[in-house]
Amino acid sequence: MPQFDVDLFVIGAGSGGVRAARIAAQYGAKVKVAEEYRVGGTCVVRGCVPKKLLVYASRYADEFEDAAGFGWQAGTPTFDWNTLIARKDSEIARLENVYRTNLAKAGAELIEGRAVVEGPHTVVLPTTGERITARVILIATGGRPGDQPHFAGREHAVSSNEMFHLERRPARATIIGGGYIAVEFAGILAGLGTQTTLVYRGPHLLRGFDDDLREGVEKAYRDKGIEVILNRTVERADKHGDILHITLSDGSAHETDLLMSAAGRVPYTQGLGLAASGVALGAKDAVIVDEFSRTNVPSIYAIGDVTDRVNLTPMAIREGQAFADSVFGERPTRVDHTLIPTAVFSTPELGTVGLTEADARRAYPDLQVYRAEFRPLKATLSGRAERVLMKLLVDGATDKVVGAHMLGESAGEQVQLLGVLLAMGATKADFDRTLAVHPTAAEEWVTMRTPVA
Ligand code: NDP
Repeated sequence: MPQFDVDLFVIGAGSGGVRAARIAAQYGAKVKVAEEYRVGGTCVVRGCVPKKLLVYASRYADEFEDAAGFGWQAGTPTFDWNTLIARKDSEIARLENVYRTNLAKAGAELIEGRAVVEGPHTVVLPTTGERITARVILIATGGRPGDQPHFAGREHAVSSNEMFHLERRPARATIIGGGYIAVEFAGILAGLGTQTTLVYRGPHLLRGFDDDLREGVEKAYRDKGIEVILNRTVERADKHGDILHITLSDGSAHETDLLMSAAGRVPYTQGLGLAASGVALGAKDAVIVDEFSRTNVPSIYAIGDVTDRVNLTPMAIREGQAFADSVFGERPTRVDHTLIPTAVFSTPELGTVGLTEADARRAYPDLQVYRAEFRPLKATLSGRAERVLMKLLVDGATDKVVGAHMLGESAGEQVQLLGVLLAMGATKADFDRTLAVHPTAAEEWVTMRTPVA
């Protein structure tokens, strides 16, 4: 057996890499992890977690407004961006430390710096020139904002990375894109008082989600005063002093103080030495892997966003765990990439699991669609024009629930539990025999009796 410095060398200490490193170390492997930026990766440092904190902040505007309907009188609330960012930063620093501690506790050694692959069993640390040999190398470098779309003045656009450290909240903002990040940041900025414009190239936001939810979120955003511009792209951005003049593909123009581009992320494989080491890359330079996250080079594996499979943190963690179990725990484990519950933290929130109605219609000729749309109880006194939308899709032939979709408060929380039901193969009869919890919004899941289609 050849001798290596370590059993496992992980490049990238994000959610997936840290999980893989910890579990492999717990199986007794000697592990080193290299991270060039901050421990915790995109999700902890400049993604899911800080984003959700900003989402919470943005929702207070509605709460203050609603309180009056319940008899509360408070002075005019004011919002301080710097306080929010400072408090968010200290929470992220705390979490980063938790990640560091967990790695150390598991016995994995952290190298703070970049690592580059030099061959099937070798990585090099460019800053020191040190070479480390490893029986197995794991690429877990995640993704980064893509550089599309190209237009004159593209350099004036920031990505989600910068959004977490803006010096001040912009009075006006224009956001490019119609995916998770664009929609979530539009909700955040609008909630915090920014006059927000969303420019998306397609006919409806959030391609791939159920059409009712897509149209529902657009309507809710417009009701909140967000300008949702569809079927258009940004043609150019011209900077005059601090102001940006944005010209769209239909020739229309508007001014803004901040331009954000959220037109997708790409695998972060740049400069990693993968191609030179013989690792096959696919579209967007994603690392191509098999069902065990193994590349075409048998000693090199890859997990998470760098593989561009399902770009969600819980999936990267799943893949990291499965990798460690398979390679170091003698328990070959494949990851199931189907039936994925997911949420978009727009306001109102969107939660979804299983097939969209359009996909379910193609798959199940006897599809039954159950739908509930209502004004939540809380909105009756607050006067807010808020609606909740819930949909259950049932295969009439087997009675199995094949999709569940929600737009409204706590949709993310609810869809987590719906995900369990769908994973168990729940039928509509299972929903029907469950007693309602009254009064809740969630009770609608068990009280929908008549299909609408
Ligand atoms: P998405 O892939 O979700 O959305 C990208 C958006 O940009 C789409 O609307 C796409 O349009 C549009 N777009 C792509 N290329 C161009 C172009 N050249 N010109 C104009 N528009 C363009 O990416 P995000 O950046 O929003 O998020 C990246 C990933 O991060 C997501 O896929 C998701 O997996 C993950 N994420 C998950 C979150 C969550 O779970 N809550 C939150 C944030 C991110 P089209 O639809 O027409 O292709």
